[in-house]
Amino acid sequence: MSDYDPVSTVARFPAIGLVGIGKGDHGVTGWVREALPSIFPSEIRILLPQPLPSRYFHRGRDQYLADGILACLAGIARRENVLCLGITAADIFSPGLHFVFGIACTGAALISTFRLAPAFYGMPDNEMVYRRRILVEAVHEIGHALGLAHCEHPGCVMYFSNWIGDTDLKGPGFCYRCRRRLDLLQKG
Ligand SMILES: [Zn+2]
Ligand SMILES: [Zn+2]
Repeated sequence: MSDYDPVSTVARFPAIGLVGIGKGDHGVTGWVREALPSIFPSEIRILLPQPLPSRYFHRGRDQYLADGILACLAGIARRENVLCLGITAADIFSPGLHFVFGIACTGAALISTFRLAPAFYGMPDNEMVYRRRILVEAVHEIGHALGLAHCEHPGCVMYFSNWIGDTDLKGPGFCYRCRRRLDLLQKG
């Protein structure tokens, strides 16, 4: 028996609070809530939706500054005593990058669905592909928020996504090493 228990009963994972940000499909928040427990043994809560903070809108880019929204989420995370995941339909960027699928700091994470829909790439709508991408990006950023760095294994969810093809190549699961590291981090 060399199989590693993928869901440690010893590690203490923080509760995860989901925050819909701005207008968009709030159904997404609902099924992310359904999907996350298959990856994280956490209590998942849906928190009050938040408006997009207009002060972080960059008119020239027609995008929101991801780092600014993340700072707001970090505040909510502290107040609510949860790991906070924000989900927005707005396009987001970070200084030096044209766009980001998501961003994270310790205890808080943000993902954008803007570039995850097949239609964005001129492909026919595909709910399964769309949902899988959202779950992969959500798990990736929560992984960062829990202390994980990028992983060199292209199949691991912590592999860096340079473009949507990378996201589609990896799954929502952690490789053995990342999963073990995650559990060790939670045991503190
Ligand atoms: Zn990353
Ligand atoms: Zn990994």
